[in-house]
Amino acid sequence: VTVLGIETSCDDTGAAIVDNNGHVRGEALFSQTSTHNLTGGIVPNVAKELHYKNVEKVVQEALDAAQMRLQDVDSIAVTVKPGLIMSLRVGLRHAQKLVQSSGLPLIPIHHMEAHALTARMMQKIDFPFLVLLASGGHCLLAVAKDIDDFELLGSSLDTAPGEAYDKTARELNLFQQPEFSGLSGGVVVEQLARAGNPLAFPRVNVMTTVANCNFSFTGLKISAKRQILAEYERQGLSTDMLLPQAADICAWFQYNLLYHIARRLQRAFIYTEMHGLCGENKTLVLSGGVASNLYIRTKLSELCSTYGYKLICPPQKLCTDNGIMIAWNGMEKLLSGRNFFQNPDSVDVQARSNFGTDKSRDVS
Ligand code: ATP
Ligand code: FE
Repeated sequence: VTVLGIETSCDDTGAAIVDNNGHVRGEALFSQTSTHNLTGGIVPNVAKELHYKNVEKVVQEALDAAQMRLQDVDSIAVTVKPGLIMSLRVGLRHAQKLVQSSGLPLIPIHHMEAHALTARMMQKIDFPFLVLLASGGHCLLAVAKDIDDFELLGSSLDTAPGEAYDKTARELNLFQQPEFSGLSGGVVVEQLARAGNPLAFPRVNVMTTVANCNFSFTGLKISAKRQILAEYERQGLSTDMLLPQAADICAWFQYNLLYHIARRLQRAFIYTEMHGLCGENKTLVLSGGVASNLYIRTKLSELCSTYGYKLICPPQKLCTDNGIMIAWNGMEKLLSGRNFFQNPDSVDVQARSNFGTDKSRDVS
């Protein structure tokens, strides 16, 4: 059994064919990062145009890599929420076109649920388990109870962690360096941070008096901006130059971001255990673009072992957006035997966030 997955929710055009054993038969990905880095962030209209230009090619490349024709797959899965409406529409319209020409069934996919369940493609993870998604648009902590049943324990009240990384990289003018031009802010900050001192500047306290599992990254983002401006001033440098202390700023920013996430997780571990939310299953799945960060993975893995939790992360390239996670989510739905298919003509896209069910719990 095989599923073709199509992803266009943000700035990556992805497609892949995955089989019921979790093997990737073929994949293709077109990243728009280098274009968006030039304009200081994602411009929705530009993202849409690039998806439009590339989606057909990317799907064909994935099929070619799998040495398959469209008629050989069993179903088409496509991201319909959440994301940039114009970007989502391009993927959905293309999927609807393919459904019309092939008669294949269509499975609409929730992008965050796909991030959350990618790890099950590589290894068996029993429900229920804890999942933390840290990405460019979200920070979500939830109990995954089934492929379509998530209970939210906490989420970001403002900025997403990936967005804070991207913004900090931009404030530091890092994308001006040719070697960084096609990379995301997170990758660049992680690289520079290796040579920096995480304690170079004062600690940023985030939500220290709020006893729940929500997150906030705006304070940290603004603190980083202030620190960067202060350093420019101290050095007498113009703000379009590179800062000699860039590595220290990156290390300090990343350390503070990790610290906040770790504190929220600590609370979630205790709460989850006290309320028996995950039974005996002490597993934390970490995914989303920020989860490809090795510093964050290593530190959270240490935290997990302190609490007797096992940390599971998808391979790095499956943490950021890709067609494989969409195809796999479609496969899980197909294999469940339940009817997740929808009339292709009636499916539309939605910008709505959180998890499909929007079930949440007050963790305080
Ligand atoms: P969402 O999944 O919330 O809709 P998205 O799909 O745009 O958002 P992803 O592709 O999951 O986001 O992740 C992209 C984000 O991850 C970017 O903000 C990027 O900076 C960040 N990111 C990628 N690699 C790393 C890394 N190594 N360290 C930290 N952040 C990273
Ligand atoms: Fe994503």
